[in-house]
Amino acid sequence: MAEEWDVRTRLVQADADSEEGAPLNTPLVLSTTFRAHPEGVGFSAEDMGEESPYFYARWSTPTVRTLERRLAELDGGEDALCFASGMAAITGLLLHLLGPGDHLVISDVCYAGAAEFVRGKLRRFGVEVSPVDTSDLAQVRAALRPNTRLVYIETPCNPILKLTDVEAVAALAHEAGARLAVDATLATPIGLRPIALGADFVIHSLTKYIGGHGDALGGVVVGRRTELAALRQDSLIHLGAVLSPFPAWLILRSLPTLPQRMASHAATAREVAAFLETHPRVHHVLYPGLDSHPQAELARRQLHNTSGMICFQAKDAPAVARRLAERLKVVKYAVSLGKPHSLIFYLPTEDMQRTSFQLPPELLERYRAWAGDGIFRLSIGLEAPKDLIRDLEQALAP
Ligand SMILES: *Cc1c(COP(=O)(O)O)cnc(C)c1O
Repeated sequence: MAEEWDVRTRLVQADADSEEGAPLNTPLVLSTTFRAHPEGVGFSAEDMGEESPYFYARWSTPTVRTLERRLAELDGGEDALCFASGMAAITGLLLHLLGPGDHLVISDVCYAGAAEFVRGKLRRFGVEVSPVDTSDLAQVRAALRPNTRLVYIETPCNPILKLTDVEAVAALAHEAGARLAVDATLATPIGLRPIALGADFVIHSLTKYIGGHGDALGGVVVGRRTELAALRQDSLIHLGAVLSPFPAWLILRSLPTLPQRMASHAATAREVAAFLETHPRVHHVLYPGLDSHPQAELARRQLHNTSGMICFQAKDAPAVARRLAERLKVVKYAVSLGKPHSLIFYLPTEDMQRTSFQLPPELLERYRAWAGDGIFRLSIGLEAPKDLIRDLEQALAP
């Protein structure tokens, strides 16, 4: 029966225990240790089985476990494993899957923290790394080698909203004996179903749309039960970047409103993007929900919600950035995304290249063709579209 329910119903229903007197909301359990038995779980992380009782909070806690079950269900995965942040989820997964001599194929444009970690630490640990434009399947195919263990993509990618065909890349990766991990933070499980499209692991920064209120950091990896049990033992427990119960509880509280928030973010983003397209001081507006997006066909095929992220270019961008920071009233000049507040931030291409991979000239040219000298990244919040448009109009005026 639960299978037949719409996601909106399932997300609300998940909290309801049918016992008389049971709370309708998930209780927050704050305990770092749990009563044990001398013949029970041993002291090594390796002694922890799937059915083990709670033992110590760095291994697992009830509130976080509830969130993991909900997130697994939401993404259509067997299980999920939460981390203290999106970055902790990414580094935890990469350090678990990759070792010296292994090869990683990764999107040439992805979250700056992920790119910096991969090109620095991961390479120092002896992992071979090939950054490629994963929106181009021929590049992905050409980069695969016998020792490729993982293909890592981000779609839509932060900050330039380029898309990668998850289904096609999953097929290429699997053919080569590699796994596919997808950072779907910008799309959320409402917008993209990576597991149904063939991905082995899905990553979300819970700090963004899933938490949705700008008050909690968190990250998650969704995937197969046995693989996540190994990830918990090998990575989460030893790296120690566990999600604490309180932010987990805040994120649980946010889940029932996720579908409505995403619908609102996307509908408003479409209106604001259409307005920006007509504005004389703005050019190259990119929004996956507009027909003008270079990959609109792929967006229609794989995105069920085109999310709330817009990027655009402007002439004299640094001066425009200063003006926007000074004049905007509704939109805040700040980093991050997926909050109730609309946020805007200017990302010069030079900065992006400093925080990303050292790309060969051909890939640099592709980046410039897409992003020019820099882009404004606009994260649409939950405000009324007409107020956002009016605010942007007055701030963009000469
Ligand atoms: C923010 C973000 C991350 C990192 O998440 P944190 O929770 O800030 O550590 C990873 N990937 C994407 C796409 C992001 O936007």
